[in-house]
Amino acid sequence: MIPVLIVLNAGSSSLKFQVYDMVDGAEPRLVWKGLYEGLGGAARFAVKDKGGAILEEKTWDAGDETGHEAALMHLVAWLSQFREERKPVAIGHRVVHGGEAFSVPVLVDESVLQRLEALVPLAPLHQPHNLEPIRIVRRRLPGMPQVACFDTAFHQTQSDIATLFALPREMRERGVRRYGFHGLSYDYVASVLKDYDPQLAKGRVIVAHLGNGASLCALKDGVSTATTMGFSALDGLPMGTRCGAVDAGVIFFMLREMRLSPEEAESVLYKKSGLLGVSGISNDMRVLRSKAAGDPNARRAIDLFVYRITREIGSLVAALGGLDGLVFTAGIGENDVATRAEVIGGLAWAGLTLDEAANRSGGPRISAGSGPTAWVVPTNEELVIARQTRSVLGATQTKLAS
Ligand code: AMP
Repeated sequence: MIPVLIVLNAGSSSLKFQVYDMVDGAEPRLVWKGLYEGLGGAARFAVKDKGGAILEEKTWDAGDETGHEAALMHLVAWLSQFREERKPVAIGHRVVHGGEAFSVPVLVDESVLQRLEALVPLAPLHQPHNLEPIRIVRRRLPGMPQVACFDTAFHQTQSDIATLFALPREMRERGVRRYGFHGLSYDYVASVLKDYDPQLAKGRVIVAHLGNGASLCALKDGVSTATTMGFSALDGLPMGTRCGAVDAGVIFFMLREMRLSPEEAESVLYKKSGLLGVSGISNDMRVLRSKAAGDPNARRAIDLFVYRITREIGSLVAALGGLDGLVFTAGIGENDVATRAEVIGGLAWAGLTLDEAANRSGGPRISAGSGPTAWVVPTNEELVIARQTRSVLGATQTKLAS
């Protein structure tokens, strides 16, 4: 019987899962991955093996009971057909916010869960959805160990100054500071960089996580020293539908002059801005690239995205005191040849030179010449959650045994 870990990443209407074999001493090994989407309505389930072949699919009608609880219980039932071979021993959850208190992954009990619920105001659009499956599992599968793995934790190595806003001191005391996100992705990239270039892994590296959410992280010797996201996941780069950094004065204008409610303003900034807002077409880079030649609005959205990435890289080069390497990851970073070429094209001043053929074939190294190097490194946030979950479980078992 192989013990397995379930990794869950819950959104407002989706539940992504991966199942890992846990073999003593070895890296957790992916067995199945899948998702539920459209939860609360006409939901869909699909599960694939580790090679990407679909094993099973199912759809539900809009009138069916298809909330997160129904999805989780469906997953438990689906897994039970393998109960002779594999036994779930723990669940690892992606949780967006660990606040100041949680700088490492944590085994969840009632008191931890209450402290995580108290962080909902810091990430109101994501934290409640991340925590809902933890509550459901506590109720429906009591005794199942659950580990919360945080998007913020990787950035807790940053200096006080790097995390400080120039706001009155009492606001800092209320937790208003830069936290940073996408930490599970940066943790993964930092952990594998030595396999690409051992020297670089110890150096000054900027990682560009460019997906539907987008941010940059400045690593020194594999440790986060600065990042573009701040108090919320809105800050920094423009994203698929999020605005990135805007002057705070814009928000007062929206509230006072445009008479938007805080909820309406929030929805504009999170859901109607970024590539979608500027182009008026789509949040999907593939769609924008396909239209860029003939549609000036698509071109403008892409140009702004690239311009902001290049400018923010300049800021992080200053924070790092130089640059040894640039790494592209996530949906756009791993797949969009043109975005990588345009960003590197804007960094000639920093000594970066594109290797066009290597960029077209996906790297991993996509730079030429003797300056800083550029790389494509596919991210794997779920593997980091599996690693962290196993390590927390291992530590707990050791504590119990001693
Ligand atoms: P992620 O959030 O990491 O899943 O990334 C999602 C984004 O990656 C989407 O907005 C797509 O625009 C982008 N993406 C995925 N595949 C490609 C591709 N082949 N070319 C350009 N962009 C892509």
